[in-house]
Amino acid sequence: MQFRRLGRAGLKVSELSFGSWVTFHNQADVKAAVEMMAAAWDHGVNFFDNAEVYAKGESERIMGAALKKLKWPREKVVVSTKFYWGLNDGPNERNTLNRKYLLQAMDGSLKRLNLDFVDLAYCHRPDPNTPIEETVWAMSDMVTRGQALYWGTSEWSADEIRAAWLIADKHHLHKPVVEQPQYNLFHRKRVEKEYARLYEDCGIGLTTWSPLASGLLSGKYRKGIPKGSRGALENTKWLADQLIDKPKNAATDKLEKVAKELGCTLSQLAIAWCAKNPNVSTVITGASKLAQVKENMKAVDVIAKLTPEVIAKIEEITAPLAG
Ligand code: NDP
Repeated sequence: MQFRRLGRAGLKVSELSFGSWVTFHNQADVKAAVEMMAAAWDHGVNFFDNAEVYAKGESERIMGAALKKLKWPREKVVVSTKFYWGLNDGPNERNTLNRKYLLQAMDGSLKRLNLDFVDLAYCHRPDPNTPIEETVWAMSDMVTRGQALYWGTSEWSADEIRAAWLIADKHHLHKPVVEQPQYNLFHRKRVEKEYARLYEDCGIGLTTWSPLASGLLSGKYRKGIPKGSRGALENTKWLADQLIDKPKNAATDKLEKVAKELGCTLSQLAIAWCAKNPNVSTVITGASKLAQVKENMKAVDVIAKLTPEVIAKIEEITAPLAG
């Protein structure tokens, strides 16, 4: 596993990382979390992604308990969390990035994660009802207080990221260093077009999510929704239609042939393709089972096999379907 700088920041993250969305609490208890995190770690992963809202705080609790059992040196592990949706109803507790919410939410996350600080704190979505300046100031203060070492955004527009960066620059505050966008073979525009100038201008790194489009790119939805998969879960039912999209599933048939030629699985090909983009600092993988972690981590061996010829084949199959 190689390590990459988080954009222009000095922090180094493993090119593949591991996140807990949907899985922790809903599909994985502390024991399963320990097993999967340990397997990722054994493959060289140093970055573990979380968010306040995942399983309403339970995902942070599980990761906190797992980290306690795993006893990794704090210097060696990078942990993140994200804020926006909140855990409670109330004008200052839900769907906001105001100063009051952010600084109190951080206290709650650190308690659940059982950590003194997180390495990365993200604004999980933009908040049109709080001035960007207020959010930037609060995130910068989190860093100054030592509760986060770096901060960034998730699914902010290029304009919003640039505005935040310029405000921080103007006031000598801690700047956002990272954005966390969706990026996979079927979801590319933001990373490849909208953000194109941010990498150079602002030194923004990317920790990208859903490399398998929630499992679609593993090929498992070609014959409908399998029992026990994400598409069958009650709380992610809204994903079901996207997962059984006919043209995309048909494309995975063709992609599988490319994967076979390279001697890898479809999932490994899809994950490696994300990591091939030099603007991606780390591809955050997800898994509900240990076997998936073991399979997905081997994607690192596929990155070098993605020659221009192979990329062209993949492009021909997926580009017409990509948004
Ligand atoms: P993926 O698109 O890779 O989907 C992961 C899911 O696909 C697994 O939970 C599993 O679901 C299935 N899967 C994984 N590997 C395989 C395999 N080899 N074979 C078959 N099925 C497989 O990533 P996620 O959507 O989970 O996103 C990864 C991480 O990104 C999250 O954990 C989170 O940390 C972050 N994220 C951030 C967001 C943001 O807004 N910032 C939004 C979403 C995610 P199953 O077995 O249940 O079918």
